[in-house]
Amino acid sequence: MDQLRLQFQSHLLPLAHTFTLSHSSRTHTPITFVALHWNGFTGYGEAAMPPYLGETPESSESFYSSLDFSWVNDPGDLAGILQYIDAHKLGHTAAKAALDIALHDLHAKRLGVPVYALFGLNPDHSPMSSYTIGIHPKDELRDILPETDSFGLIKVKLGGSYDRETIQIIRDYTDKPLSVDVNQGWVEEKQALDEIFWLKEHGVVYVEQPMPKDSTHAMEWLTEHSPLPTIADEAVQRLRDIPIVARRYSGVNIKLMKCTGIREAFAMITLARTLELKVMIGCMTESSCGIAAAAHLSSLADWVDLDGHFLLAKDPYQGLDFEDGVVKVSEKSGLGISPKAIRWDY
Ligand code: MG
Repeated sequence: MDQLRLQFQSHLLPLAHTFTLSHSSRTHTPITFVALHWNGFTGYGEAAMPPYLGETPESSESFYSSLDFSWVNDPGDLAGILQYIDAHKLGHTAAKAALDIALHDLHAKRLGVPVYALFGLNPDHSPMSSYTIGIHPKDELRDILPETDSFGLIKVKLGGSYDRETIQIIRDYTDKPLSVDVNQGWVEEKQALDEIFWLKEHGVVYVEQPMPKDSTHAMEWLTEHSPLPTIADEAVQRLRDIPIVARRYSGVNIKLMKCTGIREAFAMITLARTLELKVMIGCMTESSCGIAAAAHLSSLADWVDLDGHFLLAKDPYQGLDFEDGVVKVSEKSGLGISPKAIRWDY
């Protein structure tokens, strides 16, 4: 019987634009790609590791090197293999997500079905994706806006010193719906509420992580009074966090890199729905490998923010489509993506 074999390689991928948030700015993003081989089938995965989350190519490579798959006699045993990987070491959520993604790709390829079919989903129900605009100097912002033309929803990073002007500049350009991501940038809940009322008047449809992730009573108060849904991002990582944030926010932003992958993301969506939370599926700056993995679940979301592959100067994978504002997975088996600007020698 064949053995499950893991390969990995790390890259520092250049971004199309310098990306600025309320607390950081960067021109490249580190990604470790994985490939899992078994009996002539290969599953692809990726660990995207924005520096502020604490994982690095070095940490993911050392995690991978410490794993032993010699006991695996069926790569379709996702429950068993993923339980082993998760229990192996604490943390390493992006590194674990890469393996979860590759296992789903491999398993679905062996069954000859797309990954969404493993979960009984119809990708035709996937909402349009937003396109994210970082914090830019005002004159630069105008030049960047045409990049949003093919998207139906624009997500704006706030928390700079000229947030309202940013929104005004975008409003002068387009009347498309907007969402905003404050990345924990507001500290006072009454001021935050004033901002949200103003944003609602300007066509904003939801507000992501308005206050620090450890805000409890302030966040609960804000959500209770907010005329727009509030979405937890930094405040929610994994399944166990969902009940904790359920009273403080209207919804959760689920990202594969935070929650160890597709399997746990599906469980999180199920639990979030049970608790009557809105569901958003987001991403890091990732290639179309990681984005495809999230897109296979996106028909379950109220809002989709899967633009990470558009933010790269050059995407190492191909096979993902973009049609009428929707990030569309293919009907091929597995994730439906294949290497383009990346080499795997088996
Ligand atoms: Mg966010």
